[in-house]
Amino acid sequence: MEKDNKKTNNKGNNVNKNKSMCSISEKCGGCQYLDVEYEKQLKDKHKKLKKLLKDYGEVDDVIGMKTPLHYRNKVHRVLEFRKGKGVIAGTYEEKSHRVVPVKHCYIEDERCQCIIDDICELIKSFKMTIFNEDTGFGFMRHILLRTGNTSGQIMVVLVTANGAFPSKKNFVNALLKKHPEITTIVQNINDKKTSMVLGTRENILYGKGFIEDTLCGRKFKISSRSFYQVNPVQTEILYKKALKFADFKKTDRIIDAYCGIGTIGIIASDKVEEVIGVELNKDAVRDAITNAKLNGVKNIKFYNNDAGKFMKDIALANEEGELDKVVIDGVIMDPPRTGSSEEFLEAVTMLAPKKVVYISCGPESLASDLKYLASHGYEVQKMCGVDMFAMTEHVETVALLSKLSEATNHIDIKVDMD
Ligand code: SAH
Repeated sequence: MEKDNKKTNNKGNNVNKNKSMCSISEKCGGCQYLDVEYEKQLKDKHKKLKKLLKDYGEVDDVIGMKTPLHYRNKVHRVLEFRKGKGVIAGTYEEKSHRVVPVKHCYIEDERCQCIIDDICELIKSFKMTIFNEDTGFGFMRHILLRTGNTSGQIMVVLVTANGAFPSKKNFVNALLKKHPEITTIVQNINDKKTSMVLGTRENILYGKGFIEDTLCGRKFKISSRSFYQVNPVQTEILYKKALKFADFKKTDRIIDAYCGIGTIGIIASDKVEEVIGVELNKDAVRDAITNAKLNGVKNIKFYNNDAGKFMKDIALANEEGELDKVVIDGVIMDPPRTGSSEEFLEAVTMLAPKKVVYISCGPESLASDLKYLASHGYEVQKMCGVDMFAMTEHVETVALLSKLSEATNHIDIKVDMD
């Protein structure tokens, strides 16, 4: 957006050529590409990937969305009380803790804004206080909404600074009266001085306390604190691409590392012999176990652990040889934006799976992790971009790596040309 919207005046300063389609885009900073034509967004992202990953091979085009707006299934607002203005629901201004009021967003599920506006009205009419970060005084802190794309379900999470919720029944009833489409309401208690939105304690105020959604024909339970891809339409494309790249065999045992609520592993389960999922977040693992049951998947097990430590332990046990060796044929890894740990990468090389499918939302960390794997016996076979975050600068990449045979792995024979 910056590049297209601004030109340089004769004094060398940037001036606005035309206004952004979003009135808060500059302050919010979330949609860096909002005013750039979608085809160009995809081309720019492809260019970026090609540049970053050029040492490892070709990158296929970035797969875009048919309708690249209103895709986000997770919507967050921080609350603030402003003298003369009342309750403000907004987002933090880029790199600061100033709140920018949000009245409309081009990338969020369109059903959410109206619910947020009405929650703010109810907060006022119930005379609830708003949490103040500086003084630590006040009750309501954040509103979080999660929506199910195929199920249509909506979860409202009200983040409060303490566990008491005066008039909670009346509040919930009043909200449901205005929005009967809400399927569950959860109170999350965050009493810490922290920039994290959610705390660890929760009370279900209405409904089941989670939503469900369908991906690639499988049903998933998603609770408030579990990770779930924010763009459900593109997630199906991403997972299908990853599994097509992987081309696993029915006899394979694979690890789904950083598995979240078990989505990829469960979708891959009928293509392989066995799946082992590992994930750090306890709630996500709980959801993953339920999700396996929900889909009648029996050849998958989930472990709540750091993925690197978990895999290193298996690799070391294999080396010690006291137990039966756990052969791993494939690893699907989908780490956070910061990438994987050295321990994890080392464990991959120790377990030596034939194939590694790396799903990444951080191209820079992907490049550095590929550097490690490429210098430890792996070769990148294919790479492809998927636009999971239209209108923003972010882009997802899938890469397939395969283990080089020992012969090609250790070519250190020097050929004397003279
Ligand atoms: N594969 C899942 C989740 C990907 S997001 C999906 O497609 O939905 C990355 C996940 O890694 C998150 O669920 C996060 O909780 C988890 N995670 C972060 N650090 C981790 C670590 N060190 N070990 C295991 N899991 C981790």
